[in-house]
Amino acid sequence: MSEYLMEVKNLVKHYPINGGVMMREVARVHALNGVSFKVKAGETLGIVGESGCGKSTLGKTLIRLHDHTSGEVTFQGEDFLAKKGKDLMAARREMQMIFQDPYESLNTRHTVENILTEPYDIHGIGTKEERIEWAKAALKKVGLSEQAMERFPHEFSGGQRQRIGIARAIALKPKVVICDEPVSALDVSVQSQVMNLMLDLQKEMGLTYLFIAHDLAVVKHISDRVMVMYLGNIVEFTDANSIYEKPLHPYTQALISAIPIPDPEHQGNRIILEGDIPSPINLPSGCAFHTRCRHAQDKCRMERPPLQDAPGTSGETHLVACHFAGNLPKV
Ligand code: SF4
Repeated sequence: MSEYLMEVKNLVKHYPINGGVMMREVARVHALNGVSFKVKAGETLGIVGESGCGKSTLGKTLIRLHDHTSGEVTFQGEDFLAKKGKDLMAARREMQMIFQDPYESLNTRHTVENILTEPYDIHGIGTKEERIEWAKAALKKVGLSEQAMERFPHEFSGGQRQRIGIARAIALKPKVVICDEPVSALDVSVQSQVMNLMLDLQKEMGLTYLFIAHDLAVVKHISDRVMVMYLGNIVEFTDANSIYEKPLHPYTQALISAIPIPDPEHQGNRIILEGDIPSPINLPSGCAFHTRCRHAQDKCRMERPPLQDAPGTSGETHLVACHFAGNLPKV
């Protein structure tokens, strides 16, 4: 058995764009372009990048809310993407998702009791009484009282709604929870409460998190390792300390430089990224980041840099996709 809970190999997700009289495919959105990584049991893997980098598509493709175009996902030693019917249902119990907007992801016409007993209904687990008791226990785990059971989502604050979303995700005692920007829609003061709750649940239940966010400061708080994505590719991947202390990819460096420092005397040098992320319909040639990289050279426009061990490292402890990692041309 592999030491990894999940292994993703060359995962590709392209969305066809159809047009013309015959509604033929005229273009493709290249949302994921061959992403490979491994996830250890019990870790939190942070996945960061601007919107449009493919991180949410990755989460939804992994949990099979979206079909993949090609590639492999091995989960607990089995081919997760090939599973069908009952096997897929059983595997899905082990992999759950928390969504960005708790209001949109909860059915506003259902009471909390309906919302929290639904996973057991779908999977045919327990009697009605047991389902209600388990739902109350899940509420307690996320810090809400059982009085919440009869209420509707609109009667709660954003932070409380996200707690309900978390209670639903952990109801079936999954192994992996894919968290798609779970605190982005919350006030800063509530964000840390929800993240601390998630850390407590991880310890108690041995959960593995794939924590998707656009904000590196948020990811720093919670992650063991961090994967930085740009235009459907991984550009840097290492442990959380290294990514903050010695980022090697110019894109990661720009993201890190944008983290606010709560000290007016040490504001650091912010790297401003010029322009928007290019369209995933027409990917730039060579290094996809070259249109915004202040270190770009001719080679960058022509050759795509592979994701490989950073200079001076081995064994995939620090991967980076840049021709000049560790030795960036002066600007
Ligand atoms: Fe910048 Fe070139 Fe490195 Fe791409 S390969 S990140 S364009 S220096």
